[in-house]
This record gives sequence, C-alpha cells and structure tokens, in this order.
Amino acid sequence: MALYKTDAIVLGHRNLGEADKILTLFSPDRGKIHAVARGVRRPRNPILAGSQLFSYSKFLIVEGRNLDSISQCEIKESFYKIRQNLESMAYGLYFAELLRASTPVEDKNRELFRFFLKTMYLLQEMEDKEILSRIYEIKLMAIQGFAPEVFVCVNCGRKVSDKISFSPAMGGILCHDCKKQGAVSITPDTLSVLQKMLTMTYEELKDITLNKYTREQLSEILSLFISHQIDRKLKTVEFIKDVKKLNIKSGL
Ligand SMILES: [Zn+2]
Repeated sequence: MALYKTDAIVLGHRNLGEADKILTLFSPDRGKIHAVARGVRRPRNPILAGSQLFSYSKFLIVEGRNLDSISQCEIKESFYKIRQNLESMAYGLYFAELLRASTPVEDKNRELFRFFLKTMYLLQEMEDKEILSRIYEIKLMAIQGFAPEVFVCVNCGRKVSDKISFSPAMGGILCHDCKKQGAVSITPDTLSVLQKMLTMTYEELKDITLNKYTREQLSEILSLFISHQIDRKLKTVEFIKDVKKLNIKSGL
C-alpha cells in the first residue's frame, strides 16, 4: 500500500456507513482528494479534529484501489472561528463551492491553494465579509484563467471613461458604442474598484470601504459573470442570503 503526505484543507464531508466520513480535501500537490476518515464519527477518534470543515492539516494518506483513506493528521490551523459564526460559515461554504465548481478534480495548483488558504485566514479576521467575497470572486476567476477585461472595451479595445457597461457574457466592460443588450451600466467608481480588486493584493485591499450603491453593482455584475463562467447553480448563494436576513431580523 502506498502512503503519501500532503497538506490539505477540508472542503466538504459526507457520512459513510455507521461511523465513517468521506472527506473532500484540497491540497497543493494533488488538487482535490476524496478520502475516507474511518471511525471519525465516534468520540475521541484521533482524526476527528482534522476532519472538521475548513480545518487545515498535514495528512498521511493510504492510497486505495478505489478510495484513499486517512491514516493520520496533524492540525496546522483549525479555523474554528469560521465554524463558530453562522455568517462566516455561510461565506466559507460559498468559497469552497465556488472553488470546487471552477476546479477540475485532480488539478494541482499551488497558487490556487495558497490563495484559498489566505482567504480562509481573512474570513476569520475580516469584519466585512461581503467585500472579502467580492475580492475572492474576481481573484479566483483570474487565477482560473477567466479574468474579466476591466481596462479597455472588451469588444473594440478602446479606453472607456464614461457611459461604461459590463457584459457578463462577453466577460468585460464595453464602451458606449459597443453596449449590447444584456450589458449592465456601471459607474466609474465601480469600474475603479473592479480594477483595484484585480490588480492589488489582499493585504492592500483588506481595509477598502465601499458605498451601498457600489456594493450592489459589484455583487450584481460579479454574480452574473460567474454564472456565465461556470455551468452550475451555486447552492450556497441562497444560504448567504438567508443568513443575512436572519442577521437583519435579529439586529446583528
Ligand atoms: Zn467598444
């Protein structure tokens, strides 16, 4: 039986049999891994803590003919604060779903792994999770090779300074002459934020503030853009909306 070691984050899990779970792990060297965590639903199982959603560990895994299984794990960061807060949890699930929807199963990608790990640290720290979510969306799309064109008109290549619109289908901004049906008008402010989110680092962006209107525009165009890039409906988007409604009702 071949053994391998890898760092990985738990992206998802589902029950198997009476006491086991199948974990979906995301690793820098092997991309997504599905592996059984045996006996993990029993108390005091040594892999229990490392099998929690979003926890980040070093795993020792046994290769199986059909399915790999986890032999040991050593936690590097449990990200328990994400699991303690419903809003963080909703965003974490959304980030994981978007990652899974946009990445092939065995795709190795160290850059993507480092980016996702950094996002999890920020999800634990940053107050404004909605802004984090917008930055994550645009940067994730760029890393996956689907960066939107936000510097020149995606149709004619000219610079665009006013009467700007964004075409989710064409994947970028359009000038006034090229504006087509289905393109959404955006303000110069929104365009400038899109450019910053694409080119600046998380560190440079984490204190950015946005007014309500810019937030709404960004949310609308990025969600339309993502729907064009990936061909499945994301279940967690509704979950975030439900959590927000709950927070408003309870005055949080
Ligand atoms: Zn144009």
